[in-house]
Amino acid sequence: MGGCGEGSLGRVTDSVRVRFAPSPTGFLHLGSARAALFNWLFARRHGGQFLLRIEDTDRDRSRPELIDVIFEGLEWLGLDWDEPPVHQSQRDDAHQAAVDVLLAGGHAYWSDAVPEGERDRVGGRAYDPADRDRGLPPARGRAVRFKVPHDGGVTSWNDLIRGEITVEHEHIEDFVIRRADGSPTFFLANASDDAHMGITHVIRGEDLINITPKYLLLRAAMGLEDATLQLAHMPLIVNEQRKKLSKRRDDVSLMDYRDRGYLASAMVNYLCLLGWGPPDGEEVRIDPLNLNDGFPTMFDITDVSSSPAAFDTKKLAHINGEHLRALSVEAFAELAMPFMVTAPFADRFGSDPADRTTFERILPEVQTRVTTLDEVPGYVDFFFVDSPEIDETSWNKAMVPDAAGWLDAVIAEVPGWDWDATVLHESFMGLAEELGANRRKFQAPVRVALTGRSVGPPLFESMELLGRDEVLRRLTVARSQLAGGG
Ligand code: GLU
Repeated sequence: MGGCGEGSLGRVTDSVRVRFAPSPTGFLHLGSARAALFNWLFARRHGGQFLLRIEDTDRDRSRPELIDVIFEGLEWLGLDWDEPPVHQSQRDDAHQAAVDVLLAGGHAYWSDAVPEGERDRVGGRAYDPADRDRGLPPARGRAVRFKVPHDGGVTSWNDLIRGEITVEHEHIEDFVIRRADGSPTFFLANASDDAHMGITHVIRGEDLINITPKYLLLRAAMGLEDATLQLAHMPLIVNEQRKKLSKRRDDVSLMDYRDRGYLASAMVNYLCLLGWGPPDGEEVRIDPLNLNDGFPTMFDITDVSSSPAAFDTKKLAHINGEHLRALSVEAFAELAMPFMVTAPFADRFGSDPADRTTFERILPEVQTRVTTLDEVPGYVDFFFVDSPEIDETSWNKAMVPDAAGWLDAVIAEVPGWDWDATVLHESFMGLAEELGANRRKFQAPVRVALTGRSVGPPLFESMELLGRDEVLRRLTVARSQLAGGG
């Protein structure tokens, strides 16, 4: 039996309809986000429709709040959908009708076999391949199984990513389509909903390859075998140890990345490279502010590789840094603000209008230095606390034997210096020269005294913004700590 049509994209027309069909049983996984993205790109590339189906038939494991997380994740990424989402749980009647059609057509039969996991508890008999010939009538507590045509035939499809895949029917067991409690199984609901939604291309993870023969057999038995449906199974995502990304080992929740200060555009940019790259090998850079701008036209599902895609957190961080730097300062400020208002110093930050000015003035310097937005508060915290928290390693490194003398000299000069970053820079370096001190080493004790650390925004801009009195105060505190051996 031929499953679906030839894998030629020449047939793709503007009637393309694809779907993202998550099960709301956990948070939105990076692999699912990539599935959504590839479907969205495919739809946009071909002027088609991108649809959503919430596969919530597993009543024990589906949680309504997780459906919201899915919507929120897609909205955050900018993946807009074209029709109201279909909730699989609301299609029960249609699923029951599909089972009836299959029973009536002789493609399914009643079975009293009890699944292995339940037999210990409720007893009953195991499934036996000969059950298909017993002709059991319907009864409460009986399941319905699909009668796989054991005719020596095969089901095959030309996968747009993996090429020809063929499975012999002899290797497929008669599978349950309606459980003993009356609920439809994933196979049945998945196949009948795709047909109902007029899906033309099924793009999903390769973990679903093994159910695809069942999916195609069901479609055929429901009279839906058609030459236009095409399937594409995306490669697995693996971690740096080449192991499948797992929620126990790896950071796989999309929203956690948002909460840690990754930009949606950077996530999209990175996720699209997980298994895909333009054929000319050029670097893909997505306009952080406009996802639709030219990007989907580059995407071709047949360019997706069939080998596992390695998730590289360093590359993601690098891309995120680039996307952050590409933002206007205003956009950067707006995106950084949620991280500022939840920082440990949030109570104090913003209480004085001058804080905002300080923040906005230092921000361009921060923007060139951070890789994620959650690093922003740590770069500017010293402006908004009474005393900077001193990092011990930085202190020990900066406070060389000459440091006390240097601090005394700076403290003596500060009252007379013009309070402007450029002038401060010159005066400061002039003093270093006068004292015959190495310029870099001379800066270090002052920086640690003022900011608590050895890295951060430029020193002289920071001094200007802190103000003369505060600089003097912090330098004096540090100097006395040094005297006390602190
Ligand atoms: N609901 C399935 C899952 O989350 C996906 C089904 C499909 O894409 O066909 O794994």
